[in-house]
Amino acid sequence: MVSSWNEECGIFGVYGHLEAANLTYLGLYALQHRGQESAGIVSSDGKGLYAHKDMGLVSEIFNKDVLKRLPGRSAIGHVRYSTAGATHLKNAQPFVFDYSKGGIAIAHNGNLTNAQVLRDQLEKEGAVFQGTMDTEVIIHLFAHANTGPPVERVIAALKDVKGAYSLLFLNEKELIAARDPHGFRPLVLGRIKDGYVVGSETCAFDLIGAEFLREIEPGEVVLINADGVHSFHPFPTAQHQFCIFEFIYFARPDSYIFGHNVYQVRRELGVQLADEHPAEADMVIPTPDSGIPAAIGYAHRSGIPLELGIIRNHYVGRTFIEPRDAIRHFGVKIKLNSVKEAIKDKRLVVLDDSIVRGTTVRKNMRMIKNASPQKVHVRISCPPIIGSCYYGIDTPTREELIASSHSVEEIRQYIHVNSLGYLSLEGLKRCVAPNEDEFCYGCFTGEYCLEPPQDDAQLDFFIKEV
Ligand code: SF4
Repeated sequence: MVSSWNEECGIFGVYGHLEAANLTYLGLYALQHRGQESAGIVSSDGKGLYAHKDMGLVSEIFNKDVLKRLPGRSAIGHVRYSTAGATHLKNAQPFVFDYSKGGIAIAHNGNLTNAQVLRDQLEKEGAVFQGTMDTEVIIHLFAHANTGPPVERVIAALKDVKGAYSLLFLNEKELIAARDPHGFRPLVLGRIKDGYVVGSETCAFDLIGAEFLREIEPGEVVLINADGVHSFHPFPTAQHQFCIFEFIYFARPDSYIFGHNVYQVRRELGVQLADEHPAEADMVIPTPDSGIPAAIGYAHRSGIPLELGIIRNHYVGRTFIEPRDAIRHFGVKIKLNSVKEAIKDKRLVVLDDSIVRGTTVRKNMRMIKNASPQKVHVRISCPPIIGSCYYGIDTPTREELIASSHSVEEIRQYIHVNSLGYLSLEGLKRCVAPNEDEFCYGCFTGEYCLEPPQDDAQLDFFIKEV
């Protein structure tokens, strides 16, 4: 279970359906894993835009009465994760803004690598920013673009930005979707009755009975209006950089993105791991939930039985309060607990998806060892994380990543286990073949296709605004 490596955002939109706001609510509900701090929906009835957003979970923010106040046949929505410092309602999306031709709403998943540079330029030209989100940069570029239909303004605005974006725009008459030329974040297109849906992952389509049509291509801008779906490819082609971490941890296993089903890739990570790091053990136990598919793969390949040795409390949610010192040792057990009777005196292979700072896995191992297993072998279904992400994921700084400064053996000693094995980069790539060259592996290699921000101010901007 990844700790301190937080989901980014999820976006969802509907065009041409009587229940647009209700469907968007359900779509966001299915995408809740991508962000739990705030959520919002903007709808259109052809005459105006109607918005509601708040801090909290989708199910807490929206009810029948709120959804009734979001009329019309089209809508876009957003769920957001943010770091503590940036947890403000003013940063909740979608943003609605007025420009010379009317109103438009925007929902953004990703991060721009040149946001601060563009922001400085725009401020010099007199632009006033309300918040600290880099999405606001896109809004100003849109408003400053030469006159023309909204889709042309979107294209003009995006020509200047670098980085990761999957975007939805909504005005009174049209829905526009755009994905950056590298395709860092997923974006999929579907059909529901006579209307269309667009979202971060296909699991949102399944919930509402929409048919998956295709992925929106990297660098593609899609306009949906009364005449149907129109596709534009206005940007120079670029090396694809699909985020491999969507498969390791972020995306839901029942989703299809980047040409693969997430569950099948995640299970294959476990198969590869069993080949690379076998262990003599009595059982394979997953760290719930994201470690489960890889544990199934490992167990299947190794022939070692899979057991549920760790149980997760699914109801911790946002109400979790850090305990005071007197009961702080409850710690990790609030979220996870071991099944002592199952693992006592057993040789265990414990599967987890990744190690970030090392502190969470260390606590988990302490909890497991309190149940007196004979041996504990930890297997991690990705390579050591040595670099931060600049493309839409909230990550600790490089210095905080344990693998950036410690060897595998040092990490093994730190978490007090008998052996530790990470999946190799080559093994990871095999799991997404044949299109393995289309992925970003920056946080494992430290090599980034788009230059990270160079100065401290820009980096600070990043860390706050994911
Ligand atoms: S650096 Fe890592 S988390 Fe960020 S886009 Fe690349 S693979 Fe994904």
